[in-house]
Amino acid sequence: MEACNQQRALIPSYLDGELSEAQAAPLRKHLLACQDCRNQAQGEKSLKAWFRTEGPAEVPEGFAARIARRAFDGDTGEPVAPLPAQNEAPILRFVLAATSVAAAVLLILAITLRSSDLPSSDRLRADSDSPQQLEEVLRELDRVNAKAALEAERK
Ligand SMILES: [Zn+2]
Repeated sequence: MEACNQQRALIPSYLDGELSEAQAAPLRKHLLACQDCRNQAQGEKSLKAWFRTEGPAEVPEGFAARIARRAFDGDTGEPVAPLPAQNEAPILRFVLAATSVAAAVLLILAITLRSSDLPSSDRLRADSDSPQQLEEVLRELDRVNAKAALEAERK
């Protein structure tokens, strides 16, 4: 049938929504009347649907990475607290602990220096112990601070 060939040529464009209403109206009418062309249109439609669902667009971007990350975190499917908050808390605790240790050492150092200073002023300045001890304590403090900074950086 001549009319069928004419209408079938329009089916792909019709399915893509590219036909004007003036072209689409007669085609719709024909499809309602003609079983063969309806089948043809149906076949083309499912073929298009097949191609449309194929491809990477179905999976959201970064989906696999998110799943992997959650799995490594031991996610049980329950909502997880944001990662930064989880990671920063231990570092903050460590820094605070290191700082308070350093503060305590400084306080002890200050008391020691003061108490050792008073008698030493009466004695001869010959006691070289105090400055040496001071150097040692300061070196120890530097070590503690450097270690704290290193630990904080590593995490
Ligand atoms: Zn037909």
